[in-house]
Amino acid sequence: MQTHKLTIKGTVQGVGFRPFIYQLATRFHLKGIVLNGTQGVEVVVNASKDKLEEFIEAIKNELPPLASIDRLSIEQIEAKEFNDFQIIQTDSSGEKTVNIPPDISICKACEKELFDPSNRRYGYPFITCTHCGVRYSIIYDLPYDRGNTSMKFFKMCKACEEEYTNPLDRRYHAQPIGCWECGASLELRVKSEELRVGSEELGELRVKKEELRVDRCGVVDGAVELIKQGKILAIKGVGGYHLVCDATNEEAVLKLRERKQRPTKPFAVMVRDIDMAKELANISKKEEALLLSKERPIVILNSSLLTLNSQVAPNLSRIGLFLPYTPLHLLLLTKLNRPLVATSANITDEPLATNRESIEKLSSVYDFLLDHNREIVNGCDDSISMVVKGQTIMLRRARGYAPVKVELPFKLNKKVLAMGANQKSTIAIGFDNQVILSPHIGDLDSISSVEYYKKNIESLKRIYGFEPEVIAYDKHPNYESTKVANQLLTLNSSLLTQKVQHHYAHILGVMAEKKIQGKVFGVAFDGTGYGDDGNLWGGEFMVCDYEGYERVAHLNYFKLLGGAKAIKEPKRVALSLLFECYGDEVFELETPTIKAFTQQELKTQYIMWKKGLNAPLSSSVGRLFDAVASLTDVCQVMSFEGESGMRLEELYSDSVEGVYSFGYKNGVVDILPMIEEIVKESSQEVAISKFFHTLVAIVEAVYEPYDLPLVLSGGVFQNRVLLELLFERFPNAVIGNKIPPNDGGIALGQVVAGKSSF
Ligand code: ZN
Ligand code: ZN
Ligand code: FE
Repeated sequence: MQTHKLTIKGTVQGVGFRPFIYQLATRFHLKGIVLNGTQGVEVVVNASKDKLEEFIEAIKNELPPLASIDRLSIEQIEAKEFNDFQIIQTDSSGEKTVNIPPDISICKACEKELFDPSNRRYGYPFITCTHCGVRYSIIYDLPYDRGNTSMKFFKMCKACEEEYTNPLDRRYHAQPIGCWECGASLELRVKSEELRVGSEELGELRVKKEELRVDRCGVVDGAVELIKQGKILAIKGVGGYHLVCDATNEEAVLKLRERKQRPTKPFAVMVRDIDMAKELANISKKEEALLLSKERPIVILNSSLLTLNSQVAPNLSRIGLFLPYTPLHLLLLTKLNRPLVATSANITDEPLATNRESIEKLSSVYDFLLDHNREIVNGCDDSISMVVKGQTIMLRRARGYAPVKVELPFKLNKKVLAMGANQKSTIAIGFDNQVILSPHIGDLDSISSVEYYKKNIESLKRIYGFEPEVIAYDKHPNYESTKVANQLLTLNSSLLTQKVQHHYAHILGVMAEKKIQGKVFGVAFDGTGYGDDGNLWGGEFMVCDYEGYERVAHLNYFKLLGGAKAIKEPKRVALSLLFECYGDEVFELETPTIKAFTQQELKTQYIMWKKGLNAPLSSSVGRLFDAVASLTDVCQVMSFEGESGMRLEELYSDSVEGVYSFGYKNGVVDILPMIEEIVKESSQEVAISKFFHTLVAIVEAVYEPYDLPLVLSGGVFQNRVLLELLFERFPNAVIGNKIPPNDGGIALGQVVAGKSSF
């Protein structure tokens, strides 16, 4: 008999790993100990060689549902005597490299108890166990123990404590454990006042507050009743609040649109179960699996259009659906039995509301507040994904997926903090051969969003006990993330810097995720990004590896009339391209773009264009999409980001064939011939479909001489039609599946850009 020490790294804490080892050890009649170290889980056992092998085989084969092993190392140590097998208290010294488990959906066992009248947690909206529920959103610090989470404010009752301390119970060390007696509780509020007996609203509800206390599901019943009446509710969830209303009630949805000042941007819809989802959308096997996965992202689907009112996603045939992921959502949706609009509660440009103070700023939007008293420590939005040609594309990586660890194909020499970009920002920390990615933080367009961004940096540093040696950030001098980077550099002069070109970072992110070594041919089709020449890039072809990149081709530059204004007004980009093609003959054209301006405006714009006043140069494919949307009269001014691309997708027809002309010489792609042909095209559908084909032809022409893997990244690849066409033409094209093609993927690329410099 020898004594062996196993060190197991990966997602092994907060997932029921120690009781799992305990149960296995008992089954194998092994004596020893198991404990949570900061490097992972450590097991010390006395066993013969054969027995040890069987034991390890069983560990690997019978893992708890949320656990995953990155590495398992075995060493023989000095012989020790044990009387039995024990779980030892946590050791919190040393470096912190374990994964924080993400927040995941309620498990089947808990769901069963939730609806079982004989269970003591029947109807309890916060029922959870070791294999499900909140994690990241409630954690202050590692190791993941109750005292390090916002559950520390709730004192366990005797019954819960018995489960919590019994290694054979499925709630053994389930940190968020609680029940009606001791855990978090709900309250329903009218704006900021708690509902009072005899108040007008309660009269309508026919639910009295005393009843809410007696019938413990009363709060949920009340909320459901209000939703049925067409009211708008703010509901506290896992990583923030949602604004919700009955998706089948057109008036309610319109009211929400008006109050939120969000005229057309599609809303996500939560459905009771997969059957209800299938009534609203056509769902493939892969999409179904994604909807039902423990991460429960919003999945963008082809809607069948018939059942839902058109205000949910005006003019779009796609809809974002998701299934309930907490017991509270499950109770609500089961009782409501209708689809529910559930959109993130935030003021435009501000972060997701995560506490009473921030949600009350939106009190003019909602009628009632369904709140609870478990603090959200780390805000985390819903994740959004879609399936294109069998590949999962993340559009927003947050709840369920974050924070996630990416293992690199090499070791970093220094500890790197990557600041991400300015839109859809995320941050990342890199050390050894791993990178921890924050969840989606959001756009850095307001003071409070920058504060929230800084808070995310601090939390990640605190949780992982991380101090950076290198700060990696975007080359754009005016990004808020760059400004924060400069503040950090001023505070600590020993920090090294790594400025990374935006589109190079886009491509590197995919390379790192896919562990690609060697050179690739990267196509970065993007909204914008600061180029090495100071222009706004976004139609870039680059040959890259971790050492550097060569920009081998790009779209010819055009002027963005009005600078930042051009980003919201496709007609400005189109007009600029028309000036390029026709000069002052533009005034005689009768096209939708020209009609979108007054004669006076046209004259002013012409002067601005000619003199290059407030008209930065851009090679952005994102802006080219805008231009085409204007030329084909699909959209002249956008009401939300990405609208033009979404609307073009709608009008694509696969029965249209052919491509437009374009030039390609000396690394410059000339798109003006295409613009002229689009102007002459009479059919909107033909113009748009041929535009998509032309983009594929451009990639084909530029990529042709290279015998390198084709890597796609950049916000434009959120466009399903373009992606489908490219995958059809290049089935081996590589795109990220864990990181989004948009700027949410930038931070990972920034981390690895410093690889060889330090
Ligand atoms: Zn559970
Ligand atoms: Zn309890
Ligand atoms: Fe970008």
